[in-house]
Amino acid sequence: MSLTLYNTLTRRKEAFDPIDPAHVRMYVCGPTVYDFAHIGNARPVIVFDLLYRMLRHEYGAEHVTYVRNITDVDDKISARAAEEGISIRKLTERTTAQFHADIAALGVLPPSHEPRATEHIAGMIDIISTLIERGHAYAAEGHVLFHVPSMKGYGKLSGRSLDEMVAGARVEVAPYKKDAMDFVLWKPSPADLPGWESPWGRGRPGWHIECSAMSAAHLGERFDIHGGGIDLIFPHHENEIAQSRCAFGTDVMATVWMHNGFLQVEGQKMSKSLGNFITIHELLADWPGEVLRLNMLRTHYRQPIDWTLKGLEESAKMLGGWFAGGPDVAAEFAPDVLAALRDDLNTPQAIAEMHQLADARSSLAAMGFKGDLTDPRASKVDRAQVETMIGQRIAARDARNWAESDRIRDALVAMGIQLKDSKDPRTGELVTTWEVKR
Ligand code: AMP
Ligand code: ZN
Repeated sequence: MSLTLYNTLTRRKEAFDPIDPAHVRMYVCGPTVYDFAHIGNARPVIVFDLLYRMLRHEYGAEHVTYVRNITDVDDKISARAAEEGISIRKLTERTTAQFHADIAALGVLPPSHEPRATEHIAGMIDIISTLIERGHAYAAEGHVLFHVPSMKGYGKLSGRSLDEMVAGARVEVAPYKKDAMDFVLWKPSPADLPGWESPWGRGRPGWHIECSAMSAAHLGERFDIHGGGIDLIFPHHENEIAQSRCAFGTDVMATVWMHNGFLQVEGQKMSKSLGNFITIHELLADWPGEVLRLNMLRTHYRQPIDWTLKGLEESAKMLGGWFAGGPDVAAEFAPDVLAALRDDLNTPQAIAEMHQLADARSSLAAMGFKGDLTDPRASKVDRAQVETMIGQRIAARDARNWAESDRIRDALVAMGIQLKDSKDPRTGELVTTWEVKR
């Protein structure tokens, strides 16, 4: 059986048929690095890491190229750097390093290439020049715009009408635009913003052109899979397609377009104003990274996911059970697990199959779980202090000083320590064990 993937472009599941099985190529839009990544950003990273592992399994690791970019030029980045009084470079280097540390803890493999937008400005200028030559773009007042009516078939990916697109894009009205839908390929930069010399003056690229240039540089003008979150279908991916197809004269940019559903938190849209905005970094202070990974994969990637504390607790328990026999095993998919994953990455089904296995660890290893379930909270607790306090509590109980014994227990609870008292069945002695409570 082969790999089947849902294609946003055709709106159906299709047997995956790479252009060249000896060189399977995938591009996924990466983060804009201006702050810690949130748990919603982790979703495409984890989902497409699993797909990368599947492709390596199906075609051989040396036959798969995976590109995930870093957007390191953006107005949010410039604004944040100015706020902090540091250089843009310093900010993007710090936030990129944080991103790498976070996702490594989630069991994510590094992609084959991780291009940064600022390393590909020349390629962007080339594509923009070609688009102008071919009558798909025009320069106006230091800007270069893509002329949407010049492309037949614009809007095929999102399947929206022109009116819906105008509303959805919240199009900026500008006097230099020939059509309301036209979008920016290049814009002028004042001296206090990042800028590069170009045929249209000192300026910086629009966001969409970055991905057209980076994917072409590493994967060629036509490749197999393009992925990202569902919010990117329009306008970002629609515009990437318009730029690449019109510049390269191709009838498709990528064969398969894949989009993960959105993540919300405890039933609500995640937002800073609601106070439910959680970063991967914060979650990693409380949970092993692999618990976050499993919790993400328990929902099918195309469904919306509700990220809850209850879900995390269940995921922690599940992993603890599966890895009770220790972590060391070779990675190998059990046949039923593999069949589920080949069916458009049906992870809920794969997990159901793993519950039927006597030992799920090799399938888990193949899915990127190592069984490292070290509780990050436990490592922050001063073990010696906890043991001393437990000793003092036992002494207080022996002296029938219940008030003191309760006081020590409450102090431990306040430190996040849960005590469990039991009697040694042979000696009748009181034994106290403890764990870190969430
Ligand atoms: P950004 O840095 O905002 O461009 O986002 C990087 C990636 O994270 C994109 O693929 C987005 O679609 C994805 N993303 C952002 N927010 C969420 C969310 N709440 N749920 C799922 N994916 C998201
Ligand atoms: Zn992109």
